[in-house]
Amino acid sequence: MIKEKLKVVRDEIPQHVTLIAVSKTKPIEDLQAAYDAGQRHFGENKVQEMVEKAKQLPTDIHWHLIGHLQTNKVKYMAGFVNLIHGVDSLKLMEEINKQAKKAGRIQDILLQFYIAQEDTKFGLNLQEAMEILDSQSFKQLKFIQVCGVMGMASNTSDHNQVASEFRTLKQFFETLKQNYFQDQPCFKEISMGMSGDYPIAIANGSTMVRVGSKIFGGR
Ligand SMILES: *Cc1c(COP(=O)(O)O)cnc(C)c1O
Repeated sequence: MIKEKLKVVRDEIPQHVTLIAVSKTKPIEDLQAAYDAGQRHFGENKVQEMVEKAKQLPTDIHWHLIGHLQTNKVKYMAGFVNLIHGVDSLKLMEEINKQAKKAGRIQDILLQFYIAQEDTKFGLNLQEAMEILDSQSFKQLKFIQVCGVMGMASNTSDHNQVASEFRTLKQFFETLKQNYFQDQPCFKEISMGMSGDYPIAIANGSTMVRVGSKIFGGR
């Protein structure tokens, strides 16, 4: 069942877009089924849950922490997490940098932007992001690498609004690329699109989609 659903989603996604299977709340057997069908990128929104699952599953999985992150949780995943999507403060960057240094790694992160017309979603606006990137404190962080941006569109059936929010995120990406990351090929990811809106996200420049319920069923 998971195998078939995974194939349906995969067939809709172009080669250059990474599919992250969002497995939060789902049991190990479900992740294993997706893994057996060839899936290697998995997304979780809770650090502890991701750590537990990572211990039980093959080590060639790429783990993505996609949820809101508290500084006191960073240390538990610093040794293995591949990409942290929800980074929205300098304080969090400093803690990630500290733990990455301890673990002997350069940690890839994405800056989370607020693009939705809802007040429940976390994230930066463009000015806040630029203030962070301009700061001396940021420039001293040698153990993190900013690889792009992440955002969530409004939960609405209005396609035009969702498309417009994704275009906004794409513009933020281009602006930051131009002003801060022109000579950094690592800065290339736009993480946007979930089960309900990933085709719209891909049409508007997404490079990573985070798809949960459409693969694993409802939560
Ligand atoms: C849960 C979650 C997803 C996946 O949502 P679905 O609607 O199940 O595809 C994607 N991104 C984030 C940040 C999430 O928390």
